[in-house]
Amino acid sequence: MMPSTLSRLLFGTDPKLRRMLSYWGATALLYLVFILLVLQVADRRLIDHGAAVVLSAYGVGGIVVSYLLVRFGARLGLAPTVLSAIQAVFAISCNMWLYSIAGPLRGATLMGLMLVVVFCTFALRPRQTLALAGAGLAGMGATMWWHQAHDPLHYPPMVEAVTFAIMAICSLAVTLITGEMSKLRARLKAQKEELMKAVETIRTLATVDELTALANRRHMNEVLAQEERRRGQGCSTCIALLDIDFFKQINDRHGHAAGDEVLRSFAAAARAELRAGDVLARWGGEEFLLLLPDTGEAEALKVVERIRARVGGLRIAGLDGADLPDGRRVSFSAGLTPRRGAEVLADTVNRADKALYQAKSAGRDRVVTA
Ligand code: GH3
Ligand code: MG
Ligand code: MG
Repeated sequence: MMPSTLSRLLFGTDPKLRRMLSYWGATALLYLVFILLVLQVADRRLIDHGAAVVLSAYGVGGIVVSYLLVRFGARLGLAPTVLSAIQAVFAISCNMWLYSIAGPLRGATLMGLMLVVVFCTFALRPRQTLALAGAGLAGMGATMWWHQAHDPLHYPPMVEAVTFAIMAICSLAVTLITGEMSKLRARLKAQKEELMKAVETIRTLATVDELTALANRRHMNEVLAQEERRRGQGCSTCIALLDIDFFKQINDRHGHAAGDEVLRSFAAAARAELRAGDVLARWGGEEFLLLLPDTGEAEALKVVERIRARVGGLRIAGLDGADLPDGRRVSFSAGLTPRRGAEVLADTVNRADKALYQAKSAGRDRVVTA
């Protein structure tokens, strides 16, 4: 579904940007909840009303500015990590300010620092998170120190010192734990990518013949089963079996490597003549099965003859026509047959095999239909 014009305007179309803005939305919601709470507490005269209003305005301003930074950050050349760091520093400043005005409730504001650390784990590297946690601690420490120095009656130095120590231990522990978690996440991600690659390799190995890059016999059997299930009315299917002539002699005279090269060249030449929908597979050593769906016998014969002409013109490095057994060029014999009615394709393949045998007996380098 296409996002609406308003949503496109507000959140853009890039999925990554939209995800970042959804994180921003969650953060903004959290800020609003805290702002409402602070204003409620101020209404009950637990903290100074004027100070609460100014801090709330600062919070709302921060939400708006961070929206603009995230929304247009890419255009301003700001990396996502920089954006996250800016937001974290802003959150720390809110925390320091709130601590300063929260009076007897100030202990509760320390939770905010943990929240900043956890938020950073998602956006920053463990080292960067550690640096920000350090900055948070320094900021809060400075705030506490300033208050106990200027107003020891309300901020007893001992209480502030112990509170700071507990906060330092907790935020360090949370930073280390979340750091471990993000390392774990990175490891899982890497493992997942490796697994995906392995699955892709297995899929290729299971379906592709290594030498010729054609479908292998296993995959062709699946294709045949699929074709068998397809009960298209009035659509004919043809099957051809192609077998390279005197291949053993090519191997014997020119070596196995030359034989392999002939197989590869044959496959490439045949593939070049296939139409979309035709499937060619390496059925055995130098034998190939060609499935021609929705194709009448006459049309199928044209395809196989085209392959025959192209293979006849093959020039293989280190093995030109004159080098081949008895001066022959590379050729193949083929048996071609249409599927009859709804017969199982194994029967069609058997008939193609018999036709191939006839082509061999009749002198090779020809196509026999059955
Ligand atoms: P025909 O004209 O009757 O088909 O004779 P042919 O020599 O082509 O057939 P035959 O079945 O006697 O020999 C096939 C040879 O194919 C035997 C085998 O060593 C060779 N072969 C099978 N797989 C491979 C392969 O992957 N690479 C190579 N180089 N040779 C292979
Ligand atoms: Mg052969
Ligand atoms: Mg053979």
